[in-house]
This record gives sequence, C-alpha cells and structure tokens, in this order.
Amino acid sequence: MLQYRGTTQATLTQGGAVYNPDDLDLNTASVEELRKAYAFYHRAALYGAGQFKVKAHLEWVNPKTPIEWVKAIKSITITCERCKGTGEYSWGGTINGRPVHAGACYRCSGTGRQTMCDFRRNRGYDNHSVRRAFA
Ligand SMILES: [Zn+2]
Repeated sequence: MLQYRGTTQATLTQGGAVYNPDDLDLNTASVEELRKAYAFYHRAALYGAGQFKVKAHLEWVNPKTPIEWVKAIKSITITCERCKGTGEYSWGGTINGRPVHAGACYRCSGTGRQTMCDFRRNRGYDNHSVRRAFA
C-alpha cells in the first residue's frame, strides 16, 4: 500500500482551517499580512504558470508597494496550455477535420485563459486526484 504525503497538509494552519487571503482588506492589512497573502498567491501562481511566466508578469507590472505586489500577483493570466487558448479540449482522433471527442476545457473552465482562480482550483483538483489515486 502506497502512502501519499503531499503538499495538501502544508496549506493547513494549526487550527485545521485552510488559510484564505481572499477576504483580506488590502488597505487596512499590515505588511506582515500582505506578505503572507503574497506568498500564498505566489505559490499558486508558480504552480499554475511556472517561474518564468510569473517573473515576466511581475517585471511587466513592475509593482512598488506591498499592496501593488499582492495585486500584481493576483492579476496574472496565462494562455491555457491544456487547450492552447481555444477553450475546447479534444482527445482521440479526427474524422473529416473534426475531433471525435471534444468538450469544454476544465483547466481554464472554457475561457482559454487561466487566472489565479483557475490555478487554485486546478491545484485543489490535482491534490484531490492524487489522494484518490493512492487511497
Ligand atoms: Zn483550457
């Protein structure tokens, strides 16, 4: 029996509640809270977009203050790599130029662009599927 020890437990705080900075008011938050929120979003962006796209996005936005850094990392969007920006995922062969099997891309929820919301949903789904596979 295989035992899976993944990163799912790392996102849990000591009380067992999952850390979620979405409700954090950026204008009244302290610098420590902003740093913690930035670290959370940065980790999700690294998972979804990769270090090079994250670095390029941050250089393009060029944030200065801690609030700007949090807003910059939350605003990252990339072209979906699963469906190559079409919003439609297809598998199997093609007959007369039409794919045999096709449907909406779950990775970007059919938009062709992945946002921070998609990164976090995809990471949650991936962790769930790994845990299900090793259960
Ligand atoms: Zn997609």
